[in-house]
Amino acid sequence: MSDYRIETKCVQGGYTPGNGEPRQIPIVQSTTFKYATSEDMGKLFDLEASGYFYTRLQNPTNDYVAAKICELEGGTAAMLTSSGQAANFFALFNICSCGDHIVSSSSIYGGTFNLISVTMAKMGIEVTFVSPDCTDEELEAAFRPTTRAVFGETIANPALTVLDIEKFARAAHAHGVPLIVDNTFATPVNCRPFEWGADIVTHSTTKYMDGHGAAVGGAIVDSGKFDWMAHADKFPGLCTPDDSYHGITYAEKFGKEGAFITKCTAQLMRDFGAIQSPQNAFYLNLGLESLHVRMARHCENGQAVAEFLAGHPKVASVIYCGLPGDKYHALAEKYLPHGSCGVVSFELKGGREAASTFMKHLKLAAIETHVADARTCCLNPASSTHRQMTDEQLAAAGIPAGLVRMSCGLENKQDLIDDIAQALEQVK
Ligand SMILES: *Cc1c(COP(=O)(O)O)cnc(C)c1O
Repeated sequence: MSDYRIETKCVQGGYTPGNGEPRQIPIVQSTTFKYATSEDMGKLFDLEASGYFYTRLQNPTNDYVAAKICELEGGTAAMLTSSGQAANFFALFNICSCGDHIVSSSSIYGGTFNLISVTMAKMGIEVTFVSPDCTDEELEAAFRPTTRAVFGETIANPALTVLDIEKFARAAHAHGVPLIVDNTFATPVNCRPFEWGADIVTHSTTKYMDGHGAAVGGAIVDSGKFDWMAHADKFPGLCTPDDSYHGITYAEKFGKEGAFITKCTAQLMRDFGAIQSPQNAFYLNLGLESLHVRMARHCENGQAVAEFLAGHPKVASVIYCGLPGDKYHALAEKYLPHGSCGVVSFELKGGREAASTFMKHLKLAAIETHVADARTCCLNPASSTHRQMTDEQLAAAGIPAGLVRMSCGLENKQDLIDDIAQALEQVK
């Protein structure tokens, strides 16, 4: 599949049936797998042979879908997880332990911010947040001898900042650590971070990849390019023998291409069990089959809505990197030449009250704490996710009270604009 273009990989990647086998990916709805001898099974437990023994670790349906996402990103190995949260936790925890440190962009998903700054802090893993717009010197100053990873999002949820992937990759590599990029909003259709130097990519497949609001899930992909053995002192988990697997050394036995995902499956999936159900993996694959068609439409609708809002007298500002005046337009032209995503943020001049009136009168766009779905939805952080904050606190956090985040779905763009226009008319 590697020679085909992204559209073909979306449809046919990951699974090639043999003669007389199911055309669609089979759902292997089984927790366990049968073997003829204990010796056969023993080889699996020793990681001497690859195969399935228990769905908490691996399942064929999941592996077909992970293989497709791996092809889409241009990686060498991939795995599915039960959620995007699990994917980001596993990607970081696979190489960080107590006493280690992470450098992260401050402009990331709230759940990931909490995971890193609160929950991983309780595990003794420290973090330094840097602005995605930081200078090389500011980025450099964030590193410590204990730094083990750099983290950022291609297009941040919800701030919609665009990560300068090459800048972050350069800094990470100068310190002998990998760059992990959450590519959820861009999807591999619009950006493949490995082509710009990222080493590991993560996804909340719950968003555009599934695309229909049907299944929560996550994925981790390895570029196979990071040389763990060249920095063996930093990554003992990959570069020294694992006693829980009879002393194998992942980076030696599975090489640059396979060590990260094999360790992540063998240790973290074994111990934490955040596996995606095969049924959800099947739904995810249905979404992936049309990802390239849907992303183009999400971007077309996002661009049209952003342009309409930018010219409206009741709108104070619009954040969308596809607009020529946007702060991230130049980075978007470099990293996202075919479009970014369907999520547009905008501030109404009338503040919290205007946002509430506007949203109440929308007929197509539903009020939801969700994004990246076939159906248009929107959210006013000030009256929902950030409800406890005062207008002053909101302004300080860069979230004005009148801010609305709108995730443009796959409806007709003129219908969306007409709906927005009539709802804006109700704002006095
Ligand atoms: C939603 C989201 C997550 C978390 O994913 P879940 O599937 O909800 O666990 C992580 N990163 C980004 C960028 C997201 O949008």
